[in-house]
Amino acid sequence: MALLQLAEPGQSAAPHQHRLAAGIDLGTTNSLVATVRSGRAETLPDEQGRHLLPSVVRYLEDGAIAVGEGAKAAAADDPLNSIASVKRLIGRGIGEIAALGSRLPYEFVAVESAVPRIRTRRGEVSPVEVSAEILRVLARRAEAALGGELAGVVITVPAYFDEPQRQATKDAARLAGLKVFRLLSEPTAAAVAYGLDQGAEGLHAVYDLGGGTFDISILRLRRGVFEVLASGGDSALGGDDFDRALARWIMTLAGIEDDADHRVLRRLMRDACAAKEQLSAVERVPLRIERGDGTIWESELTRATFESLIDPLIARTLAGCRRALRDAGVRAAEVADVVLVGGATRVPLVRRRVAELFAGEPLAGIDPERVVAIGAALQADLLAGNRPADEMLLLDVIPLSLGVETMGGLVERIIPRNSVIPAARAQEFTTFKDGQTAMAIHVLQGERDLVSDCRSLARFDLRGIPPMVAGAARIRILFEVDADGLLNVTATETRTGVRAEVSVKPSYGLTDGEIETMLRDSLAHAGEDLAARRLREEQVEARRSVEALRAALARDGEALLSAGERARLEAALTEVGRIAAGADAEAIRSAVAGLEQTCGFYVERRMNRAIHDAMAGRRVEDFE
Ligand code: ADP
Ligand code: MG
Repeated sequence: MALLQLAEPGQSAAPHQHRLAAGIDLGTTNSLVATVRSGRAETLPDEQGRHLLPSVVRYLEDGAIAVGEGAKAAAADDPLNSIASVKRLIGRGIGEIAALGSRLPYEFVAVESAVPRIRTRRGEVSPVEVSAEILRVLARRAEAALGGELAGVVITVPAYFDEPQRQATKDAARLAGLKVFRLLSEPTAAAVAYGLDQGAEGLHAVYDLGGGTFDISILRLRRGVFEVLASGGDSALGGDDFDRALARWIMTLAGIEDDADHRVLRRLMRDACAAKEQLSAVERVPLRIERGDGTIWESELTRATFESLIDPLIARTLAGCRRALRDAGVRAAEVADVVLVGGATRVPLVRRRVAELFAGEPLAGIDPERVVAIGAALQADLLAGNRPADEMLLLDVIPLSLGVETMGGLVERIIPRNSVIPAARAQEFTTFKDGQTAMAIHVLQGERDLVSDCRSLARFDLRGIPPMVAGAARIRILFEVDADGLLNVTATETRTGVRAEVSVKPSYGLTDGEIETMLRDSLAHAGEDLAARRLREEQVEARRSVEALRAALARDGEALLSAGERARLEAALTEVGRIAAGADAEAIRSAVAGLEQTCGFYVERRMNRAIHDAMAGRRVEDFE
């Protein structure tokens, strides 16, 4: 019961039809959905051509639910039933929410289950349910654009999201009826959108300034995988604070008091936001502000003035960057690329300051509001299996090779280390002995050639192989690693369809340190392994020749050979067996070659006999 390599049919993974997939950036302020169409990743607009969906959900009087622009516009008039920034709440306990402070206008219901709910006219709703409404709208948009049901989605989450926050995000997707291929961290998605995963190994920073949050992540691309070395930021700092700083400045100059009519203040905030956004493109904007007493205050705002108002806020983000660099143990100059993410990075001063800190122009070629969704769409397309293997993103890889044990205690690698997951590869094997009806499959992980030097993951038997001569059975062994790193091994006898399978979690229990050690060992022992492999291969070859000859002798030895000839061949077989038990690969090789010579006459006789048998009873014409 063992394996013998037969043929390598190459990469398997049967081609399957295009599956619909989408990437979703579930943002605090705005959310987006993107897909890959004709090879290009792009965000999808609503019927009015708007790509950004404000992350606001409003429960209306008539029981309807509004999501997006409409809900946002009504939020100020109906704050208790319009839930904005629900991302700040998802996956959090009531204690953590209380710590978020007074910026949340909702009424919370603390329940025993620790999952806080928000009281609305619709009843109590959980952050998961609110998020599901946003996801539903985006999924519908994607399905309308693609013309079919989504096979799955990739949803992005901040790098710092913990397990409960990730789980809650997944729950929201499930509630919206979506299959989540996987959650992807936002900075990784942004880096993927720029194709950094396909570039050289090195350090990258992702600077994300959104509406209400600032996130900085230091990533290291190594062996094709982005590792988050450090993440930091400020959950109460974003473009909205630029609006507030500007509004404050206007109030002082225009003489508007803090206790002015709330409609006046709301208008002011809207005007401030609009002025800020315009100033990203032009040098000066006119201001026309209603004072509330029927008079209008008119002025002009230059970019320089605006910059002086927001510079202290930007300085705080830079302090956050320095802290993250320190946490990661790297210097700013070592960072190869800085990716800009978030609408507020459109502000020219933000770009300048970031360029100064990292001593180089940041990457901003892709719309910073859409870049995360675009990266998620690329990943979703990949996970749906729509791209050929050589175009695959090196995002998550198999840290150590996966293979099976073959004859002689050798490891045959089926999925090499650093293969992108999900991965599927098959290889064909055959039986070693005549009439062999079972095969032991030993699944291994590691870079070394000998089974004893690799890590054993699983063993299972394939039974019920119909008895056949050695080498006639075709056993296809398929290794599949899914997006979560789960390995499934299937062995199938292809003629009869007899199969057996096993699932293992290959990386389970292995720390990065252990992986490192295993890799180093394989390099250190490369020469030694080569010699060991050669010896084992010669031994296997010798045993196979001996087995084949023995089987032949048992079948027709008496009919074709004299007693003396048989004795001579038996003696030669014993001698080869003796040499093969030793450790001299070269001696074994020449013994096998000698055996072939010795039994040459016998092989000739068998061939003639086979031809004779085949032709018996047929006319010569049949063979022409
Ligand atoms: P989030 O990640 O929190 O959902 P976004 O990335 O969508 O947020 O960023 C929203 C912020 O970007 C808002 O404060 C918005 O005013 C700001 N913003 C959008 N466009 C511009 C622009 N052209 N100039 C300056 N700020 C902008
Ligand atoms: Mg964002």
